Amino acid sequence: MEIEVTLLGTGVGIPHSGRAQAGLVIRGEKPLLFDCGAGALLRLAEAGFLPIEIDVALLTHLHLDHVSDLLALAKARWLMGERSMKVFGPEGTQEWFETVRGLYPYLVDLDVSISVVDPGDEFTLKGLKIRAGEAVHSLPALGYRIESGNKAIVYSGDTEPTESVRDLAEGADLLIHECSFPEPFVVTNHSTPRRLGENFRGAGIKRIVLTHLYPQTIGCEAEMVRDVLAGLGPGVGVEIGLDLQRIQI
Ligand SMILES: [Zn+2]
Ligand SMILES: [Zn+2]
Repeated sequence: MEIEVTLLGTGVGIPHSGRAQAGLVIRGEKPLLFDCGAGALLRLAEAGFLPIEIDVALLTHLHLDHVSDLLALAKARWLMGERSMKVFGPEGTQEWFETVRGLYPYLVDLDVSISVVDPGDEFTLKGLKIRAGEAVHSLPALGYRIESGNKAIVYSGDTEPTESVRDLAEGADLLIHECSFPEPFVVTNHSTPRRLGENFRGAGIKRIVLTHLYPQTIGCEAEMVRDVLAGLGPGVGVEIGLDLQRIQI
């Protein structure tokens, strides 16, 4: 089965034109949503998805730029007559959701079931095999590997370049990895091009798409690709992701 990825948002907490906050859809037979930051709900509509089709969301972590449209998505589904939804996320997801939803008593009949995911967990959703790995960020964070047959896609969420995400991405057809800042920024909790490239050198990945781009990356796109390749070595396709970009694997 072919897997199709639709990037909804390739931006971050600081807005800049053309890049909504984090979100993407991976579709085998049915769509799965990964992250749902501000603007991702509108991008879903622009990409041709109806809220009613999106009944499962997986969260990498609970920063606002990855979750702020999730309750709005649940409400959009509720307005269309569908109360139930499944959400998978790291520790704290249940408390976060109940706290936010608790501010809106009229949404009390939303039937959102939350499953907490730990690094190393494996499960199947809509015919796709999912494995979670630990990301290195300023709070508990996950990356996900999504497989269908012999095809594999990995989404890093927010992370420093790290061994656990490399393990998750070994041999993947597509790695969607955050690259928040260009060189020569030095940051923790996020990725920059050269370290990112070095981290995945020799990991057998076919294609890397960079996402989670801060405004500081504007105008540096070509350099960022060059700097990732300098760490990575030849033979891997590297590109800057675009909102509403579709990739078939
Ligand atoms: Zn974050
Ligand atoms: Zn983020």
